[in-house]
Amino acid sequence: MRNDDSPPRPEAAASAGPDHRPWFTRRSTLVIAVAALAPTALAGWVLTQVLTGAGPDARDAKPAAASNAAPATSAASPASPAAPAAPAKGPLTGRTVVIDPGHNTGNFDHTDEIERQVDIGTNLKECDTTGTTTNSGYMEAEFTMDVSVRARALLEAKGLKVVLTHEAADRAWGPCIDERARIGNEAKADAVVSVHADGVSAGNRGFHIILPAEVKGGAADTAPIVGPSRRLGERIASNFARTTGSSPANYLGSGTGLVIRDDLGGLNLSTQPKVFIECGNMRDAKDAAQLTSPEWRQKAAQGIADGIVGFLGG
Ligand code: ZN
Repeated sequence: MRNDDSPPRPEAAASAGPDHRPWFTRRSTLVIAVAALAPTALAGWVLTQVLTGAGPDARDAKPAAASNAAPATSAASPASPAAPAAPAKGPLTGRTVVIDPGHNTGNFDHTDEIERQVDIGTNLKECDTTGTTTNSGYMEAEFTMDVSVRARALLEAKGLKVVLTHEAADRAWGPCIDERARIGNEAKADAVVSVHADGVSAGNRGFHIILPAEVKGGAADTAPIVGPSRRLGERIASNFARTTGSSPANYLGSGTGLVIRDDLGGLNLSTQPKVFIECGNMRDAKDAAQLTSPEWRQKAAQGIADGIVGFLGG
């Protein structure tokens, strides 16, 4: 099942204008009707009243016109239409997003360090993994950093504060998965997305979003984030499908593009709404052709960013 089958996306609804005629069209019809029936003098008087009342200088509220105006404008005092607009203070104001570029290109050279066991609450797990590569050697870690940097630019352009868990070449390996989770927690992130690409056998195609299962153990307690994380994941899934044209994975998730897992430290240790996205399968030639395309990666970043913005109500 494609995400096209899901309920209409709010962003689509928001872009569609109200399906009614503008107020001036209806008033013009009224004026013509009155003018045709009334004596010339009366028609002239009516015309004057209607036009005066409907003119751009009118101070009385025009409900139909107001419905087309931004809320800030209609809320402003009618007596001071020239007053400067207050700074935009929308749902994205003061919000923080953490983007976690999966793996690190240096992990291949630091296998001892990344194999160290860390506590993910429910059990111990390797600090980090190397990630996969395409058959031609393009690393998942290169892909995840590139998409994350692109997503950051898009989100910052919306006014959001964006934190990456690591920057390209700013560290030799890692961070470990517990530290990746901690960065989102300490930032009190309103949304966290860990960016990945899968490495399974050819023929398996498409993207999927990994949602946190409800787990409790040690430092792990995901009950508060299961609900919001699902909403975040659903937003990203629908937007990612739209911007990239990709289909939800054909090898798991029953075509929904959504999978729940209880074994990922980055999710188990998160106290903030968080999902992973596996953008495609690096080991499938058709998916790899997309994953290695800068143009496609920009579309991927756009889908992730749009999903986050939608989740935050922007
Ligand atoms: Zn990965």
